[in-house]
Parts: sequence; C-alpha cells; structure tokens
Amino acid sequence: LPPTAELQQKDAAHHLHPFTDTADLNAKGARVISRAEGVYLWDTEGNKMLDGMAGLWCVNVGYGRHEIIDAATRQMQQLPYYNTFFQTSHPPVIALAEKLAQLAPDHINHVFFAGSGSEANDTVVRMVRHYWASQGKPDKKVIISRKNGYHGSTMAGASLGGMSFMHAQGGLPIPDITHIDQPHWYKEGGDMSPEEFGLARARALEEEIDRLGEDKVAAFIAEPIQGAGGVVIPPETYWPEIQRICDEREILLIADEVICGFGRTGQWFGSQTYNIKPDLMPIAKGLSSGYLPIGGVLVSDRVAEGFIADGGEFAHGYTYSGHPVACAAALTNLEILEQENIVSDVASRAAPYLAEKWGQLGDHPLIGQARSKGLVGAIELTPDKAARAPFAVEAGTAGLICREHCFATGLVMRHVGDTMIISPPLVISNEEIDELVEKAGRCLDLTLADLKA
Ligand code: PLP
Repeated sequence: LPPTAELQQKDAAHHLHPFTDTADLNAKGARVISRAEGVYLWDTEGNKMLDGMAGLWCVNVGYGRHEIIDAATRQMQQLPYYNTFFQTSHPPVIALAEKLAQLAPDHINHVFFAGSGSEANDTVVRMVRHYWASQGKPDKKVIISRKNGYHGSTMAGASLGGMSFMHAQGGLPIPDITHIDQPHWYKEGGDMSPEEFGLARARALEEEIDRLGEDKVAAFIAEPIQGAGGVVIPPETYWPEIQRICDEREILLIADEVICGFGRTGQWFGSQTYNIKPDLMPIAKGLSSGYLPIGGVLVSDRVAEGFIADGGEFAHGYTYSGHPVACAAALTNLEILEQENIVSDVASRAAPYLAEKWGQLGDHPLIGQARSKGLVGAIELTPDKAARAPFAVEAGTAGLICREHCFATGLVMRHVGDTMIISPPLVISNEEIDELVEKAGRCLDLTLADLKA
C-alpha cells in the first residue's frame, strides 16, 4: 500500500464521505482501515483496534469468515448477476427467501429484496400504501414514525427517520410522514418511572392516530431498540401498548429490524425479544454480516396475500433486488449463525456477561447511565450524575473527546452527542468483552481529565 499520508491526501481530495465533518477530516486525515479478523481491525499504520461497533452494527459473525468468501466466489463464477424482474428468478435468491421464511416468525413467509436498509424502507413506504389501496382504502397513506429514529438516508428513509439535522438538509420529510416522541426514559422521563413513561410514550401513538384520523393512517414504524438515535432501550411497558394500539386501530406495524435483526438482541429478531407481531420487517446489515450489500422487507402473510389477491403488479424493484452473489453470501452467513448457535449464545452467554461488565461503567463519575440489551449498549456522559444533566459546553463535545481517546486506545466506539454506544460482533468472547470495557473505562478517565483541564 502507498504511505498513509498519501492515501489520506487522495481521500481528502476526491472522496466525499457520508456523515463526516469535512473540516475535521481535512485537518486530521481519514483513519484508513486495511485489514480485519474476528472482532479486530487494523489501520494502515498497523494499529489494532477492537471493533466495538461491528462496522456499522452489521458484522454479526465477525470478520474473516472464509465460508462466506468461498460461497460468494463460487456464485460469482456460476452466475455473477441476474435480475428478479419480469418473472425471472435464480437458485440463490430462492434459497435465501426460503431460509428467511423459515427463520422469521410464523406469520411471516415472504420477502421482497433490496440492496440496503434505506432501500428496504423506501420499499416499505410504497408497499404499505399499495397494500391499503389494494384493500380499497387508498386514503390510508400516513406513516407515523418517531423523533430521533433512523431508517436510512434516501428521501423516504430519511423522512421516516426523525433526525432533525437530516430533515434540515433537503427539505424533508416528504408528505404523509409524521413523528411522535421516542421512549427515551434517561433523557426525557423526568419524574416518571420507566414503566409509566413507556406507557405514556406508547399512548402518543393513539393520540396521533386520533389527530390524523384512523382512515388516513397506514402504519407505525419503529426500531425495536432505537440504534443510531443513541441505543434507546424502551421500557418494558412500551411495546405491548404499541401492539395493543396497532391491533385495535386499523394500522400496520412495521418493525425496522435493520440493526436488531439476526441475533443482536439475543433472538433472531428484536420483535421476538419484545414479543410483538409486526406486519413488515425491513432487514439489512446482519443479513449478510455486511460482507456484501443486501437488504429486504420481510412481509407477513396478511400483507403479502393482500397483494396476491389483488393480482396486480407492485411497480417497484431494484436492479440489485436479490443479487445472486449477495444472496449466496447472506445464505452462508445465516447458516453460520445457525450452525454455531450464535443467536442463542448471545442470549445465554454474551449478553448477560456484557450487561454485568458494561453496567459497572455506571459507577464512573462521568456516567449517568450504563444500559445494554443483547449486544447493544450505551453509556450517557454527564457532568452531574444525579441530575442527568447535559454539559455546559456544546452537546457532543465530550462524546467526541471520548471517541478520539477510544481510537487512540485501540477501541472503536461511536458517539451520538454525549452518548457513547457499542454494538460489537456477536461472536465477541468474554475476554474480548473484558478488553472492551476496560478500554472504555480508561477512555472515560482520560475524557474526564480533559474536561476538567
Ligand atoms: N434502518 C436502521 C434501523 C438503520 O440503523 C439503518 C442504518 O444504520 C438503516 C435503516 C439504513 O440502512 P442502510 O445504511 O443499509 O441503507
């Protein structure tokens, strides 16, 4: 490889990065990652880092899985590309569709493929509207989502998402998408117990349906655990109440499983962890453990049969819907998750171990709350534990300082404002969890010292 400085210079000159502060990038240069194995990454300077984020919440089976690489290579040689439009299909897409129907909850037996989570959510917007039109209810168009949710970066994905800084760029949201408050007890719970707060935030959905009119509302979409919004683990009362509302009102429930799917919460899907029965589940990320881009929408029998009964055509699809090489990689990834019992190992070993160790960070003077569920977690930085207060300096300053210490210490953690988050590969061992938590603690000490200086 050329020297790092040369790579950084070319990167800064030509590469427009997603979600990156350009001034900071130009000042410091990109971290150029050149190799990975298991839960570790190496940059071009030879620094080894524990990847506490599994890439972007996606490398569930860890790096360096030769089975996936071999399956993709074989498929490339056999049939590198063909489409699934106009009544064509191919063996890997058929095998993956069957496998997903087998893994999904019983009432879900269909899948529409896309290239990413964003495309999956664009599909969802059109699919629910098409579904209600096929039921003779074309006015049921509005999708209710949540503030601070993340559902992708396309126009519809970013509109479904509730990130105001994303809406501000490009005049979003698109019409017929509204947002209710998130169930973020730590930040917004005030004097309520988590249980009371969970119920109150769920009932905001009913109030929004009443405000809009049930005959106008098509669906409610949410991540079982809000990820990019800062790993917002809902109080236990939240999802049962949401399910009740969706059952009683004529509203489809969409669980965005792009992060929570494929073992992240200790079950195959986050919906199972929270015991909910969604009509649609957008998926991506852990579907292929990120080895190749692929996403899709898992579709319940009720919605799929609506289409089939309609007999018409869903005028929607992507060149790469069901890409054969991505399907072969995804299928092998799912076989690894199954054969190595990775999902049940998260529930029985890794998640309880992480909860215990990560929870201890809650004793640190800089931490207002340490929380985790399955293998996602967050710690809230605060200058005042008791009051759960924000910092006097600009929000995100402390988080950024902490993130930089993490990189220097050999740990990848992400910051969302002043919340530090983790989502490591599901195969992380107990010793590697020890390393992650020990390094995180060291970085908190360094951040505290910086903030005092
Ligand atoms: N939905 C959720 C919950 C996500 O976290 C993401 C990405 O982080 C997306 C959708 C978008 O997926 P992609 O980046 O593959 O388009």
